[in-house]
Amino acid sequence: MHFARYNPVRFAHLPTPLEPLPGLTEALVTPDGGGPTLWIKRDDCTGLAGGGNKTRKLEFLLGDALANDADTLVTQGAVQSNHVRQTAAAAARFGLKCEVILEHRTGSEAHDYNRSGNVLLDELLGARIRHVPGGTDMNAALAEVAEEVAEAGGRPYVIPGGGSNVIGALGYAECAMELVAQANELGLEIDRIVTATGSAGTHAGLVAGLAVMGADIPVLGIGVRAPQDVQEANVFNLAQGTAALLGHEDRVRRDMVVADCDYVGEGYGLIDQGVIDALKLIARTDAILLDPVYTGKAMKGLIALSRAGAFDGETVVFLHTGGAQGLFGYQGELDGKL
Ligand SMILES: *Cc1c(COP(=O)(O)O)cnc(C)c1O
Repeated sequence: MHFARYNPVRFAHLPTPLEPLPGLTEALVTPDGGGPTLWIKRDDCTGLAGGGNKTRKLEFLLGDALANDADTLVTQGAVQSNHVRQTAAAAARFGLKCEVILEHRTGSEAHDYNRSGNVLLDELLGARIRHVPGGTDMNAALAEVAEEVAEAGGRPYVIPGGGSNVIGALGYAECAMELVAQANELGLEIDRIVTATGSAGTHAGLVAGLAVMGADIPVLGIGVRAPQDVQEANVFNLAQGTAALLGHEDRVRRDMVVADCDYVGEGYGLIDQGVIDALKLIARTDAILLDPVYTGKAMKGLIALSRAGAFDGETVVFLHTGGAQGLFGYQGELDGKL
């Protein structure tokens, strides 16, 4: 995999650390001595205005935008989108304008949700924000805004929700290579990688990268929104497309794509006691800050699966995809429950 061919621009703090999670590993030892040995890949530390997983994707997407002489990034996300925050930051960093559309997907009217956390940072970073109701056709909305920008004489570059197309997913194929190199250096044999999976680019990029390398490490995606059949189909299509871009479409097999969508709870962006328990546990065992929408939900799944014996004897790497900035958008919901 020769990523320089795709002209990424470099601004992420890489490689991100790969660290043990001794406290959580200890906390998840089962009564009969089972449970996984846990490590964490710190993609919350990618460095772009708070960082997170969208930063690796944006290195490739910005490369493409600049190659196309764009002057305005156009993207969309939920109100507390980490992707929108990182895109606004990348635009600021490269002197581009940024037009974002925020979908009121959760229906929350809470002040913190609508004004604090990532939204506050979007404004601070200078993005121009439009608000649309939940259920809006977001791809059509993106096309409309891009057209408006062009009519006003601008040169728009549209980034899909989550930065999840084959170009963005290259960032996670590259992360797969980085992670395997770190593990080789440490002499660490990884049995499984666990990640939150949403717009699918992270999961798909990892699967594509590992498959193209022939690393033979299974990835478990824990869903945050869609049901399992939909999520796995999205990830598989994108993984194949990404591997095709890398010249090896045939290496991604359908059985390499596994998503467990049993931990979504009430829905996207809606938190429950399991998520709060997960946020608290890893904060207190290893001082790791997760977010309420993605990593907290994935950790809720990882904890439940560990306790059920699903990872007994395995070395599991949890990919920390970031998002702690979103905690402040949920202040009211967390208040008094920590
Ligand atoms: C976007 C996001 C994810 C999900 O990644 P996808 O590539 O959209 O599947 C996970 N965690 C955090 C914190 C995110 O912002």
